[in-house]
Amino acid sequence: MPGLNRIDDMGKRDDAPEHVYDMIIVGGGPGGYTAALYAARAGLDVILLERLAAGGQMALTERVDNYPGFDEGINGYELGERMRRGAERFGANTRMAEAKALTLAGVVKRVETSDGTLLGRTIVLATGAVPRELGLARERELTGKGVHYCAACDGMFYRGKTVAVVGGGNSAAEDALLLSRICRRVILIHRRDILRAEKIYQAPLMEAENVEFCWDSVVTELLGENGLRAVRLRNVRTGEEREAACDGVFVSIGRKPASGLANGQLQLDPAGYIPADESTRTAIPGVFAVGDVRVKALRQVVTASADGATAVHYAEQYLTGETCGTGKGGPCPAHPLV
Ligand code: NAP
Repeated sequence: MPGLNRIDDMGKRDDAPEHVYDMIIVGGGPGGYTAALYAARAGLDVILLERLAAGGQMALTERVDNYPGFDEGINGYELGERMRRGAERFGANTRMAEAKALTLAGVVKRVETSDGTLLGRTIVLATGAVPRELGLARERELTGKGVHYCAACDGMFYRGKTVAVVGGGNSAAEDALLLSRICRRVILIHRRDILRAEKIYQAPLMEAENVEFCWDSVVTELLGENGLRAVRLRNVRTGEEREAACDGVFVSIGRKPASGLANGQLQLDPAGYIPADESTRTAIPGVFAVGDVRVKALRQVVTASADGATAVHYAEQYLTGETCGTGKGGPCPAHPLV
């Protein structure tokens, strides 16, 4: 039965090679920590790997207003910390380590981490998504030195200065609004002449006196010797090029799935997301994909959290053999646990 294989009861370290967790969760965003909470409450022997900080991408959001229960909104980092503490209250373990490689096939799965090897009977992939880059020359070199992907994290460096924000979605609108409260001038650069951002963001953005719009334009070059001095823009309708002076540029053009670890073992969809339906079950028995890394219609904190709970429901069925229709519980003849 799940939760009964605690070899550490026999005096061995949790990460001794023999120890097999019921569940290893890779990624500590809302999907990962909800899975950890539900798994711990179900009595599973669960460990969660997180590289940086609880909350994942959410931790970089200044305020989350659309997660129910917080009537005045909540800071994303704070919500991540609360999710971590909530899961740990029931016995979930967090390990600050980076998953480097996975072996997903087989009854016992392996996770190679920056801090040793872990074995688990089920794996929950909750690696989320990472910011999309513009793909410009010098973009990587200037990252953190003029080029940024998180206004909530790095906006403070540009107090009283001029910044550009690239993108036209909710993130770009949110970033431009946040920066308009810190910076002297914000130039919003969008490749079309209409924002994709929801209406709720548009009115305050249009009303902000220090926000200018640069429509139908793309950034073609990052200019400056030491750090950023300006961006070169091209109007996609007229082809006209010009420079826009700015001290920093915030790239807010969406995210791409952090699915590299699963690539080669699970077939990804054309955009790189992990195929799994609302059950979160992937093509490999015992492997689940939750949150932004999964193929899904709506990527939000609340939908990632829902995935985490669902994954544990199906993981419990898998661990007790129920999914194989024995109706008796216990290890499944087709997928024996030991
Ligand atoms: P998004 O909605 O996919 O928008 C990306 C924007 O970047 C689009 O305007 C797109 O232009 C532009 N873009 C994409 N590639 C580009 C490129 N190479 N060069 C220039 N522009 C490019 O991404 P997002 O704003 O990060 O939002 C992601 C998801 O999170 C969405 O579902 C969003 O609703 C959600 N979100 C929600 C909230 C909230 O509810 N509080 C806050 C932030 C994000 P086009 O419009 O021309 O395609």
